[in-house]
Amino acid sequence: GAHFKCLTRKPIPDPLTYPVNKDIYRTTVLLTTWERTMRGTIHSARLELVEGDITQQKDDAIVNAANTTLLGGGGVDGAIHRAGGPAILEECKKIGGCPTGEAVITSGGNLPAQWVIHTVGPVWRDGSKREDALLRNDYKNCLIQADLQQLESIAFPSISTGAYRFPIEKAAHIALSTIAGHLKGKTTVKTVYFVLFGAAALEAYQNSLQDLCGKDTEMKQV
Ligand code: ADP
Repeated sequence: GAHFKCLTRKPIPDPLTYPVNKDIYRTTVLLTTWERTMRGTIHSARLELVEGDITQQKDDAIVNAANTTLLGGGGVDGAIHRAGGPAILEECKKIGGCPTGEAVITSGGNLPAQWVIHTVGPVWRDGSKREDALLRNDYKNCLIQADLQQLESIAFPSISTGAYRFPIEKAAHIALSTIAGHLKGKTTVKTVYFVLFGAAALEAYQNSLQDLCGKDTEMKQV
C-alpha cells in the first residue's frame, strides 16, 4: 500500500533533497524554520511544505493563483508576472482566459521554473457556492497539466487563501488530500512542494498534513 512519512524534525537538511549550493535562499529558510517544515512520501513521490517565495522555485513548474482574465493581478499572480517578465503575459493573452477550477500552462519566461501552470481559485463567499469542489478541481487540474507535460516536480502556492479569502485550514485540507490522492495513482510527478508565504500559512498546512497522516490509513507517520 501507499507509504507516507511525516518528518517534523531533522537536524541537518539532506543535500540530496535540498540543492544547498544552488538555492541558498531556501537553505536559509529551512535552517531557520526547520522544525516547522514537513516532508512526506507517498510511494516514490515526495510532498514537502516549505516557507518562501514561489517565484524562486527551480522546479519543472510553479503554479500561479490567477484570475479568470489571466491578465495578472496582485498577490502571487503579480509576483510571478513581475519576476517572469512579459513573455508569460503574452502567452496568457493568446490563451484568452480560464474558468474557475481549471488550469492552463505557459512557459516560465525568465523564472527559474520551466513552466507556469495558471489556475483560477474560487472566491470564498459562504461555502455554499461549490467553493470546496472548485478548489479541489484547481489542484487536480494542475496535476493533470503536469502529467500531460510529463513533469517531475511542481510547486504550489496556497490557492484562494489571499485576496479570495478561502479559510486557510479548510483550503489546506482540500489541497493536501487532493494532492495525496493524485500521488497514489499513476503520475509522472515525483516531488510536490507547497511554498507557503509566511509562518501562519506554513503552520496551517503543517497541522493539516499532521491531521491527514493520522486519518488516512494509507499514510504512515514516522
Ligand atoms: P488568491 O486570489 O487565489 O487568494 P493571492 O495571491 O491573493 O491569491 O493569495 C494566495 C496565497 O499566495 C496567499 O496565501 C498569499 O500570502 C500567497 N503569496 C503571495 N505572494 C506569494 C509568493 N511570492 N510566493 C508564494 N506565495 C505567495
